[in-house]
Amino acid sequence: MSGSTNPDRAKSAVAVIPYAGASTIAAKVIAAHVSGYLNLTVETRPPEKIPPDALDKRRRQYNAATLIQTIESMHRKDCFKVIALFDVDLFTPIFTHVFGEARQNGRVALVSLFRLESHMNGSSPPTDRVLERAAKIALHELGHLLDLLHCDDDRCLMYFSGSVDTLDQTGFNFCRYCRTALRRKLRQEGIIDTPT
Ligand SMILES: [Zn+2]
Ligand SMILES: [Zn+2]
Repeated sequence: MSGSTNPDRAKSAVAVIPYAGASTIAAKVIAAHVSGYLNLTVETRPPEKIPPDALDKRRRQYNAATLIQTIESMHRKDCFKVIALFDVDLFTPIFTHVFGEARQNGRVALVSLFRLESHMNGSSPPTDRVLERAAKIALHELGHLLDLLHCDDDRCLMYFSGSVDTLDQTGFNFCRYCRTALRRKLRQEGIIDTPT
């Protein structure tokens, strides 16, 4: 234990915020996984409105970069990292749609339930499968916020998944290499101080 107190330690390290109609149960499941996997203090916040300027009316999708920028400016000081949960479709300049998005070392990660709630053949997966997918994406994007890059190990949460099928096959844990990098980053940031 260190003798000095970091004033940020009083606040939760991570806030999970559902936007508009996004499931608060999914938000709670994500919060439980982040706190369980990374041993961080996590809080689930009340739902917020989706920043309207992120809507691309022609595409009928939301611009992930605009969402990240707006949410970052709204939650600048109140926690270390934010996981923003949506039930609308998100896009980036590179991908027609994304399950999640985060900048390396950024503050805000986006997770969208929109594409997780159906199979390729149009049928609906069971709720626990949708929640598992959402938790995997949240942990992956949080990994990017903690400066992790993609991992070649398909048993690791940092493996890149472009489809729900790949996502379902991806392991539900960080590999040893990524886990070590995460702990190191969290220690550097003063979020944890246990030498594990
Ligand atoms: Zn990624
Ligand atoms: Zn890994």
